[in-house]
Amino acid sequence: MIHIQNYINGGFTDPIKNEWLDNICPADGLVYGKLPNSCTKDVQIAYEAAHDAYLSWSETSIEKRSAILLKIASLIEANLERFAVAESKDNGKPISVARSIDIPRAASNFRFFSQAITQFYSESHEVRSQKTINYTLRHPLGVVGCISPWNLPLYLLTWKIAPAIATGNCVVAKPSEVTPYTAFLLGEICNEAGLPKGVLNIVHGLGSTTGQAIVGHPNIKAISFTGGTETGKLIAKTAAPFFKKLSLELGGKNPNIIFADCDYNKMLSTSVKSSFSNQGQICLCGSRLFVEASIYEKFKVDFIERVGQLIVGPPSEESTQIGALVSKAHFEKVLSYIDGIDKTQNRVLFGGKRMRIQGHENGYYLSPTIIEVNSNQCKLNQEEIFGPVVTLMPFESDDDVLEMANDVKYGLSATLWTNNLKRSLLFSEQLEAGIVWINTWMQRDLRTPFGGTKSSGVGREGGFEVLRFFTETKNICINYE
Ligand code: NAD
Repeated sequence: MIHIQNYINGGFTDPIKNEWLDNICPADGLVYGKLPNSCTKDVQIAYEAAHDAYLSWSETSIEKRSAILLKIASLIEANLERFAVAESKDNGKPISVARSIDIPRAASNFRFFSQAITQFYSESHEVRSQKTINYTLRHPLGVVGCISPWNLPLYLLTWKIAPAIATGNCVVAKPSEVTPYTAFLLGEICNEAGLPKGVLNIVHGLGSTTGQAIVGHPNIKAISFTGGTETGKLIAKTAAPFFKKLSLELGGKNPNIIFADCDYNKMLSTSVKSSFSNQGQICLCGSRLFVEASIYEKFKVDFIERVGQLIVGPPSEESTQIGALVSKAHFEKVLSYIDGIDKTQNRVLFGGKRMRIQGHENGYYLSPTIIEVNSNQCKLNQEEIFGPVVTLMPFESDDDVLEMANDVKYGLSATLWTNNLKRSLLFSEQLEAGIVWINTWMQRDLRTPFGGTKSSGVGREGGFEVLRFFTETKNICINYE
């Protein structure tokens, strides 16, 4: 059994009230660890440690902060296998994915922000006729809160922590209670890298207890949150009376728009990935596939064939391409969407069933599922399912598909497949999304702004955008006449 503890002030501690949650392995449904369900008092202690560390950390030179972040990156890489095994076990994702994507990206987050902070700058504005010069200061905020979800556990937690500490803040962080393991391991790495105690504090627990205590803490100045839209609303409500800075990265229901003039083979293999990577549990997955009518029937046959070749299996096996869904509750939620379809309007073309994997009969395995729908208004197209379930629908014209793509409450990302330049430019301008991919998917450059519009969130992460988020801007105006 793994005994996960809070990481506070550079040490590992049990929760004050001695309340514990089960850590369950999705591959077989068995409890394999315990994690704290931290209370307000635990969060207060973490806050005090962060507050005590702040003065010194915020005045530590950029070179030194940068060097520590770089060391954390190197240590994550040096412990790649240990982290990857933990992530795969906790989340149910294939070990090959944890090893090649999640953990390398967590290291890249620290490496990237160790460099970005050395290039971060402020502006000055001179008006010679008035003999004035304005210059802008960007100072750290103080103690900030970082709250992350279970789908890309270490990847998304470090995407917040790295820029927060790079800019001189101290952090109280909470990973998802469903996937706490790699965050726990990160504490050890931070100590080994020489991160001063209290700069990063990681408290574990439920959103309604630990998460709520962080968001409702009067002196935690900003909340960087990634998770569901409904949780985002609650967080915004709790934080509003304190006028906290908020960055909310929320749900998505992203369109994948396929025109007949695209590079068909590249589109086909990428669409399999954009539909089912990480068991479809990536906020950027394209879950609504709109296919131009002239190639719809061909695409349907080819897509089903390719999806049928995906290997569903235990996350620990190297050959597995689709692992287990993250938890029983999530598995049941995803399955309820499939079981609840209106069969007069929608048709399951492939999958849609629980899979029993030999030796892992109680694991949460679902075959990748393709459903043909006849209206973008159906529940399957309007609600975020966040699992290995996609819908297919043909379209006749550019105007029709653009309208359907935008006719949803979310606006995170969109993918477009076409070789028509004019169409790509028009669609990229008119698609209501924070991120548009043309003839590709999920090619990430950490310098770029990342985030959604509409119910997919507020604010942007990535590059200088997030460094601005984690700093308070002050303008100084001097008259030098
Ligand atoms: P969730 O909203 O249930 O939980 C996310 C985190 O918030 C967890 O750590 C949870 O404990 C915490 N939390 C829950 N209630 C809280 C509260 N009242 N106060 C403070 N914290 C609280 O989301 P999830 O199920 O873990 O993750 C799946 C969701 O995340 C999906 O909707 C997905 O689209 C979204 N997501 C978005 C992005 C993005 O970048 N936009 C990336 C990944 C995941």
